[in-house]
Amino acid sequence: MFSLIFLFMACKQEQSANTNQPVGDDFKWTTESFADKKIIRYQVPGFDKLSLQQKKLVYFLTQAGLSGRDIIYDQNYRYNLPIRKALEKIISDYQGDKTTSDWNELMLYAKQVWFSNGIHHHYSHDKFAPGFSKEWFEKAMTDTGISLPPEVLAAMFDPAIAPKRVDQRSGVDNVLASAVNFYGPGVTSADVKRFYAAHHENEAEPLEWGLNSRLEKEPNGKLVERVWKSGGLYGSAIDQIVFWLEKAVEVAENEPQKKALQILIEYYKTGDLQKWADYNIAWVQATEGDVDYINGFVEVYNDPVSIRGSYESIVQINDFEASARMKTLSDNAQWFEDNSPLMDQHKKKNVTGVTYKVVNVAGESGDASPSTPIGVNLPNSNWIRTKYGSKSVSLGNIEDAYNNSSGPGMIHEFAFSQEEIERSEKYNELAGKLHTALHEVLGHASGMLEPGVGQPAQTLPGYSSALEEGRADLFGLYYLLDPKLVELGVMPSLEVGKAEYDSYIRNGLMLQLRRIKPGNNIEEAHMRNRQMVALWAYEMGKKDNVIEKVVKDGKTYFVVRDYEKLRGLFGELLREIQRIKSQGDFAAGKALVENYGVKVDSAIHKEVLARAEKLNIPPYGGFINPRLVTVLDDAGNITDVKVEYPDDFTKQMLEYAKKYSFL
Ligand code: ZN
Repeated sequence: MFSLIFLFMACKQEQSANTNQPVGDDFKWTTESFADKKIIRYQVPGFDKLSLQQKKLVYFLTQAGLSGRDIIYDQNYRYNLPIRKALEKIISDYQGDKTTSDWNELMLYAKQVWFSNGIHHHYSHDKFAPGFSKEWFEKAMTDTGISLPPEVLAAMFDPAIAPKRVDQRSGVDNVLASAVNFYGPGVTSADVKRFYAAHHENEAEPLEWGLNSRLEKEPNGKLVERVWKSGGLYGSAIDQIVFWLEKAVEVAENEPQKKALQILIEYYKTGDLQKWADYNIAWVQATEGDVDYINGFVEVYNDPVSIRGSYESIVQINDFEASARMKTLSDNAQWFEDNSPLMDQHKKKNVTGVTYKVVNVAGESGDASPSTPIGVNLPNSNWIRTKYGSKSVSLGNIEDAYNNSSGPGMIHEFAFSQEEIERSEKYNELAGKLHTALHEVLGHASGMLEPGVGQPAQTLPGYSSALEEGRADLFGLYYLLDPKLVELGVMPSLEVGKAEYDSYIRNGLMLQLRRIKPGNNIEEAHMRNRQMVALWAYEMGKKDNVIEKVVKDGKTYFVVRDYEKLRGLFGELLREIQRIKSQGDFAAGKALVENYGVKVDSAIHKEVLARAEKLNIPPYGGFINPRLVTVLDDAGNITDVKVEYPDDFTKQMLEYAKKYSFL
């Protein structure tokens, strides 16, 4: 099977479907809702405390990030950019009737496209169906002086064309079936496998082959990589990124940070993946300073065969107080490893390089925007992580914005008892943050392979991501009920752990199903992991009534009855998944994911959708970025940078289109 550069540690945690916490001030957190989405704003605490040089650095890095924004559209599907541009032109210039349903449907469609960076749903990967007619759209284009080629129009309106951005079903050629623009027409899974096979034999320190290119098939059948670099594919956008990164170099906070930026620039100029590896080594070692960033072709979730990286950028400011709390966890990493339920031969003897920070986001772009992760753990290259360590960040202000944007409705509907509700109101926020921290810092860093066993992407193809996320979640869950966390002062009592157990089971068995369409299975790795963990624990604990399924007034609840035993089950499953990974036990890994993580209980699913619909709380959130504005003196020098908080999603999207359309 496939042997890729593996990104089993790649982690992009996202907000679970849980909710809580009221608002404390009059900042408008949520600006609007449409379809299954809501638009949220976030604040940037700490920005004003930065020096002028640091503010400039943040500004240049966000400009660099936004300069690559068009890339993600083209990566997601080859016709996304012309479609988006047509929509934007109509929205800006249309003089006709804007009270019709066609117009409203066009606005809805455009917002969905902006939200997802293309015409496929950001999460389910299903193509959006326009609610306006093709005739009306063509007329609107004519009225605004534009046109689209027939094949692009067909892609918009014909449901049979490119129905899925990423198609992970078994039994189909996933590369051929996926609309994502990482592979040229006609390139098959077998082609990809063959093309990269030579790279993966006995390479101890493999580069991330294929990460930064499109693989195309020439008329004579020859496969070629078209590299994303200056002078190559996406070159005009990449040159803009480089322009701003060069400015960032001039105001870097320290030498290691400067050096990393310089290598990143070299990489963008050459497309040389050795430079990308060098950059990651430099970046992961640049740990001083208050400002950090992610910029590049990074996560491979949008590639059905997990090779090619989606463009993304996140600019971050350290949150010192929160980071200090979490540092406690990484300082004790070895204790957690030694005391974990893993088999002795799978425990790491020296857990190294675990750094964990809570940061506040100052700007996001590409794959990280408008929909964003809440935690990131990089780099993805396994040998770099082993040798040089990794950086784990939790996006604190994003989590806060999520929490502030949603009312208590969901908890009230799906929690069984008043006790659960009160515990959730009191501790859910801390519980969620702690679980994220444990997952990122300790979970992904834990465990080791047995000698001679290959990387999980090779040994557990198709299941490595879900299993890896399960491993990290379980590591966190296991310790959330450990008095050690109270002793270390990171949580006040074990009630925090109980709140997370309630929430995890509720989410894994019920709430997250809000994101699945009736009749569909679960495909996304994190969701598979959550159901796998929750359902396995439910089934295995049945004889002891660890988790009870209660039906009351026609409503189903999953109620944790024995927290200690549940902790024991989490430990057992953690040990087993680590064994599967350490030994490369494909059959066992496949069975776990397929039996517990994929199939949806259709009766529960229906019930969840019906109960959630009444609450009218969209399951997905996306963010309006703050706008950073420079203050200039007469000579044109930047004397200050101010943060503004725009509150109109459509306006921001049109503004970005105007300022950052480089493809
Ligand atoms: Zn993860």
